[in-house]
Amino acid sequence: RTAQEALKRLTVDVPDWPEKGVTFKDITPVLADHHAFSAVVTALAAAGRDDHGNVVVDKVVGMEARGFILAAPVALALGVGFVPVRKAGKLPRESHAVSYTLEYGAATLEVHRDGIAPGERVLMIDDVLATGGTADATRQLIEACGGVATGASVLMELSFLDPRSVTGDLPVSTLLTI
Ligand code: IMP
Repeated sequence: RTAQEALKRLTVDVPDWPEKGVTFKDITPVLADHHAFSAVVTALAAAGRDDHGNVVVDKVVGMEARGFILAAPVALALGVGFVPVRKAGKLPRESHAVSYTLEYGAATLEVHRDGIAPGERVLMIDDVLATGGTADATRQLIEACGGVATGASVLMELSFLDPRSVTGDLPVSTLLTI
């Protein structure tokens, strides 16, 4: 609840950014507030635990770039490793790549082939779930490594963009639905 209230209070709606007709949810004020940042990280990490509080994931993946900021402290909170999913051409070693369309434009995401071991259970973390394309592409990258995508945990879901039609049966937990 605290996390949800902090998100509502501190997220700034930026109209017509990065292009006309899109209202961008700017979560940087949430990060700038220590209590809010801490509350949302704890809330995001809950998706990596079962009802008894046991950690049920082996890795946490964050999607560039805001996903990194949230996923790294979630990984530390859960006591597991962090793996970056990056935009094309940024990773230095052998990678898997998946291309997809997003709310504004197209993109390719990559992950190091050895970033996730076969059979590892992986939790995905990002700030905003919009069309669902990023989450679905990340799931494909996890699966290309032989891992199991246990779910996506995000601060905010833009339900009017119908992301669940893209993410399908992937479990998604969100702190705030808009
Ligand atoms: P999707 O692939 O359309 O679901 O878009 C999600 C990705 O785009 C995430 O990595 C977000 O960080 C970013 N994104 C899309 N819309 C917003 C927004 O309104 N605020 C912040 N990030 C956004």
